[in-house]
Amino acid sequence: MKRKKFIETTTLAIAGGMLAPIMACTTDRKNKNEVEISERKNWAGNYTYKAEKLYEPTSVEEVQQLVKKLDKQKALGTTHCFNDIADSSQNQISTKKLKKFIHLDKEKKTVTIEAGARYGDFAEMLHEKGYALHNLASLPHISVAGACTTATHGSGVKNGNLATEVISLELVKPDGSVVNMDKTDSHFYAVVVGLGAFGIITKVTLEVQDTYEVRQDVFLDLPLESVVSNFDKIMSSGYSVSLFTDWMNNTVSEVWVKRRMDAEIIDLGSDFYGATAATKNIHPIAELASENCTDQMGVPGPWYNRLPHFKMGFTPSAGAELQSEYFVPRAKAVDALLAIEKMKSQIYPHIMISEIRSIAADDFWMSPCFQQDSIAIHFTWKQKPNEVLALLPMIEAALTPFNVKPHWGKLFTINPTELQSRYKKHTDFLALAKAYDPEGKFKNSYLTKNIY
Ligand SMILES: Cc1cc2nc3c(=O)[nH]c(=O)nc-3n(C[C@H](O)[C@H](O)[C@H](O)COP(=O)(O)OP(=O)(O)OC[C@H]3O[C@@H](n4cnc5c(N)ncnc54)[C@H](O)[C@@H]3O)c2cc1C
Repeated sequence: MKRKKFIETTTLAIAGGMLAPIMACTTDRKNKNEVEISERKNWAGNYTYKAEKLYEPTSVEEVQQLVKKLDKQKALGTTHCFNDIADSSQNQISTKKLKKFIHLDKEKKTVTIEAGARYGDFAEMLHEKGYALHNLASLPHISVAGACTTATHGSGVKNGNLATEVISLELVKPDGSVVNMDKTDSHFYAVVVGLGAFGIITKVTLEVQDTYEVRQDVFLDLPLESVVSNFDKIMSSGYSVSLFTDWMNNTVSEVWVKRRMDAEIIDLGSDFYGATAATKNIHPIAELASENCTDQMGVPGPWYNRLPHFKMGFTPSAGAELQSEYFVPRAKAVDALLAIEKMKSQIYPHIMISEIRSIAADDFWMSPCFQQDSIAIHFTWKQKPNEVLALLPMIEAALTPFNVKPHWGKLFTINPTELQSRYKKHTDFLALAKAYDPEGKFKNSYLTKNIY
């Protein structure tokens, strides 16, 4: 099937799927939070959860009772991971009914929400009250705790990942007790990007700032040689910059430059390092319609409606797809990109689009950006798991000289021992996870393979 046809067909298929009724209904079972389930898949539909039971508690007390009572279990957010990280051999505890907006503290400039809230659930309200978050991922549909626990990120040379907004949290530990922790707690930097290993986060307090507007300008066909010569300048040309490419034709097909209106705005002109200004809104996959994308063409809009690429009310991204993403030190970015570019003929048949973003260093033990300014090289693949899983080891081998680390929530095949050796704090993280969860209630097959 031709690439454009494939993309259009799979997009329609998933859009149809989104309208189908969810195959779960609350019933009066032994536990009122238990939901009757048949086959359940993750958002992309590439992974079928194995957990036999699904619970949807509505309060922290209900979470405590469940966590205490159940043996093997794992928190489930908005199901946007592409692998088995959120699965359990027995029970999943969904946070979908834990999404209340709790408190905006104007003096301390913090907002507290229940951990299952999606960014899109409260971003607009925050803006209307005069406040903003520092950054968002490409879509606002993901839960706050689910995003932070895998070190989900947006872009920006000075912007840390979304977990860097977390000021404090409330956690239901594996024994059912509740603990609150903030940055003064020595465990904080393990638990926030905790891969779901420490229990269930029930509340999160995030740092906010005065609200701001952002304009989004898109440029087309940036020559690869210009990327090589001007990489740092291009990535620093806005508050958040993304490069989109299918690796072909020696060009980056789109550069999305998101700039805050409260900073100095200079005219970027129609020639941006050799790329030309777009004349209409465009989707990251240029063949697709742009109506689901946040507004471009330099039109200012609130931060929550410009920092993500996709609007809250619409099906994000391409639909039926797979994703992988690899982090390398920003200082080595150009060499890493050229190493991937050499593989373009192997990549192209399977790719929908790649995105290159920057993330500032942070202090979370299991963050791929731990103490290292990074570049993330993302791949949205066609949903062809065999072909993609055969290709990933080659990409990972090409990036090995750069000490590559994968996105925890996407597909990767890096050898676990090798992977662990790339995390300076892995041993401490594992010891702490075992101390919190001596019975291994939250230890699922993903953690057994990659962390334990
Ligand atoms: C279309 C699309 C676009 C994406 N864009 C980006 C992007 O721009 N940047 C990026 O970095 N990633 C991106 N991702 C990946 C996504 O952000 C991560 O996979 C994220 O972890 C998904 O959050 P979730 O709530 O769906 O988590 P789930 O998949 O439901 O769970 C993920 C992990 O979080 C744990 N967890 C969930 N809730 C809790 C809780 N309350 N307490 C403790 N642990 C919990 C689960 O146990 C599991 O380990 C994208 C994914 C998709 C499908």
